[in-house]
Amino acid sequence: MDQIDVVVVGAGVVGLAVARALSLAGREVLVLEQADGFGSATSARNSEVIHAGIYYPPGSLKAQLCVQGKQMLYAYCAERGIAHRRCGKLIVATSAAQMSELRAIAQRAVANGVTDLVLLTREQAQALEPHLSCQAALLSPSTGIVDSHALMLSLLGDVENVSGLLAVHSRVDRLVVQSENANGTIKIEMADGTQLLARCVVNAAGLHAPELAARTEGLAAHHVPKAYFAKGNYFALSGRAPFSRLIYPVPEPGGLGVHLTLDMGGQARFGPDVQWVASADDYLVDPTRGEAFYAEARQYWPALPDGALQPGYAGIRPKISGPGEPAADFVIQGPREHGVPGLVNLFGIESPGLTSCLAIAQLVAESLG
Ligand SMILES: Cc1cc2nc3c(=O)[nH]c(=O)nc-3n(C[C@H](O)[C@H](O)[C@H](O)COP(=O)(O)OP(=O)(O)OC[C@H]3O[C@@H](n4cnc5c(N)ncnc54)[C@H](O)[C@@H]3O)c2cc1C
Repeated sequence: MDQIDVVVVGAGVVGLAVARALSLAGREVLVLEQADGFGSATSARNSEVIHAGIYYPPGSLKAQLCVQGKQMLYAYCAERGIAHRRCGKLIVATSAAQMSELRAIAQRAVANGVTDLVLLTREQAQALEPHLSCQAALLSPSTGIVDSHALMLSLLGDVENVSGLLAVHSRVDRLVVQSENANGTIKIEMADGTQLLARCVVNAAGLHAPELAARTEGLAAHHVPKAYFAKGNYFALSGRAPFSRLIYPVPEPGGLGVHLTLDMGGQARFGPDVQWVASADDYLVDPTRGEAFYAEARQYWPALPDGALQPGYAGIRPKISGPGEPAADFVIQGPREHGVPGLVNLFGIESPGLTSCLAIAQLVAESLG
């Protein structure tokens, strides 16, 4: 049976960033991806926003890794010429009742080390974005957007430059933790029957990470969280948006509310909403959800024309907390947590996972160091 130093399961932005960090640390890395290419799951179905780190509970991994990851990501994009733009965002209060929420968001941001937010009056916000309707707004100058495909291409390039490999059409079916007297390695059983041994395995399988962990012989069942799937639907705006910054309402339970984001080509989309679904492959956008998008978007853009929104795409949040439960933090579960040498499971890597990918990778590399 072939033996390798490290196997990373999943070639999304997090798996690729982890593979890069371990490759640069001198480890021999093989990335196994079930699809026919890298980054076709959640990493291709998100808002491509570089988040500032505003909303997350102070001290949480989401807060720490977002703030740290944002800085690492801006530096990496600048160094590699990856398309990105520090366009800024406005979080808008559209009723007097939401004013206290804006203030609470500003306080939480400071506790997370995000000290550049500016509270704007309606007039100041409208001076920046004349089409915006609001009572007040918070400006986040360090929020931006990134071409996530170009980012993943660059991460993969770094892996391959130091002789790491990506194997596609390679679905991992099961992991078996070998006993100490069998070298303490982990056996990887592929769906096509192939088997190999690795000293370390990083489970970066995104939506399927809990499922793979449940099929890991030697990992106690109580370390495997239940998976929940929260679909986020997007509707695309026909024509150009009259905004040059990202526009967010105050957050809603399970997500950040129907916001307006821009891609690197200047095209605008609204979303994602929150729709709890049973399956990890349910990517269909129901056109009838569009009505709710008009209503929510018109809270801050009353002039949004009828018929301007078209069903776009959907992504699915890899949740480990269910509807009505408090949002779970990222879980980076290494040998210290579960006692299995060489195994790291990444659970619940929803937003801000794209922003945090380089910081998550650094933490994983340290935990296997
Ligand atoms: C609607 C939405 C909007 C978001 N917006 C933002 C945003 O604006 N900013 C931000 O920072 N974050 C955002 N996120 C979060 C971000 O997209 C994710 O955190 C990130 O893409 C997760 O990357 P990943 O590599 O962990 O998972 P994925 O991209 O899902 O990659 C996992 C990979 O594992 C593969 N795989 C699964 N099982 C197996 C197996 N058994 N064998 C082999 N391969 C397997 C899959 O095919 C997949 O390619 C958003 C997420 C959603 C859903």
